[in-house]
Amino acid sequence: MSRSPVKIVVVGGSYGGVGFISNYFKEAKKLQRPVEITLIDRRDYRHNCLGSFRALVQPDFSTALWAPYTSLFPQGQGHKVVQGSLKEVHHHHIVLESGDSIAFDYLVLATGSYNPAPAKIQGITSYKQAVALNEQYHKAVQAARHITVVGAGACGVELAGEIAHAFPDKKLTVIHAGARPVDYPGFADEFKAAAAKHLRDLGIDLVLNERVSVEGLDMEHPVLEGRRQIQLKCQQRTIETDLVFLSTGYVVDTSYLRTLVPENKAADYPNFDPSSLVDQRTHRIKANAHMQIDHPAFAHIFTIGDCSNAYETATAASCTYASPILAKNVIKLIQDGNGSPSLLTKPDLPKVMLLATGPRNGVAMLPIFGTRFGNFFARMLKSKDLFSKMMWQSMNLEAPRV
Ligand SMILES: Cc1cc2nc3c(=O)[nH]c(=O)nc-3n(C[C@H](O)[C@H](O)[C@H](O)COP(=O)(O)OP(=O)(O)OC[C@H]3O[C@@H](n4cnc5c(N)ncnc54)[C@H](O)[C@@H]3O)c2cc1C
Repeated sequence: MSRSPVKIVVVGGSYGGVGFISNYFKEAKKLQRPVEITLIDRRDYRHNCLGSFRALVQPDFSTALWAPYTSLFPQGQGHKVVQGSLKEVHHHHIVLESGDSIAFDYLVLATGSYNPAPAKIQGITSYKQAVALNEQYHKAVQAARHITVVGAGACGVELAGEIAHAFPDKKLTVIHAGARPVDYPGFADEFKAAAAKHLRDLGIDLVLNERVSVEGLDMEHPVLEGRRQIQLKCQQRTIETDLVFLSTGYVVDTSYLRTLVPENKAADYPNFDPSSLVDQRTHRIKANAHMQIDHPAFAHIFTIGDCSNAYETATAASCTYASPILAKNVIKLIQDGNGSPSLLTKPDLPKVMLLATGPRNGVAMLPIFGTRFGNFFARMLKSKDLFSKMMWQSMNLEAPRV
């Protein structure tokens, strides 16, 4: 008697979701059961956000950043891609904003995060519209004389660096509330100092220890055109600017989990509250060491990437490291059915950061040959193509030349 296919639903087709799917196909040869995977993403094309700031200053680079999902799956095996937005998660089905319901045996939640535009573009589901919006931002950069970036995390440093490289004649200010740029836990002070020096060497006015509030600038409106003044209270000076970018942090929306309750809640978990599944400060999903939702009722629901708290720092690198383990764990569960296979544990992540500031420039922290900083490694590993070729390869497509 033939068995019905196991249904895996993956929500989010970027580093986490596609990382899982690629690794699933590498491992699945050992699997004896038919499996159908459905990938759901709200966008029509995959976006390599790592290159957003290069596209801001060089719009033709957009071509390298958006890839269709057409070759992701082998043909004729029941796998499919659905464009839609996840609204609700239930024990064995999800509901999309369209009202469509999709059943699953295993679910992978990889819905990521939203960094302020132009890093990631919220609310736009068509790549053509996203590219058009990027053109608009590019024109604003071209027209501005004095540009200000608020925030000097990794995105703020890269955004300012790309603009400084492409438009060396523009006045550029970066304002940061902290004492050092890229001030993430566990990263060496020398790296942070190297990033600060790098920005200043590019001619950028780096203002530290200054928390500013710019009227109208928020996550919903992260790009403000038009002449305005910004008061620097600690430095007791005012800057005149005509284009401001917000680059402070990212937001995670996992509100789709508020409908998730265990199948036999009344008997087994009478006091269950779905809000316990999510870190209330960051809204990231609480994951256990095997990358499952951290609750015994949901061993069949996994999470990876920025929407998950499996790793402290939200990076594409964590998806690269963790997706092979995630794929193996899902396959183990499929193979062993309701048994209790011993699942693999997510790997530790080395402290790596590559900051690209133009095609030939950057700052890097790498745990090889001792900790190294500087331009050479960033240029070799990231700055030239911002991992675009790798992104296209993972989509089983050849990257366009730009
Ligand atoms: C400018 C920039 C540079 C970066 N550089 C680096 C770097 O050098 N190295 C590094 O490791 N990391 C870097 N990062 C971080 C990295 O981009 C993220 O950690 C990575 O994108 C996370 O991947 P993800 O798949 O978890 O989420 P995302 O990339 O955010 O993708 C989530 C996907 O889910 C979809 N989605 C979201 N919500 C829903 C929903 N409700 N329904 C359906 N679909 C949904 C989205 O459309 C999207 O396709 C950088 C980030 C930025 C912005």
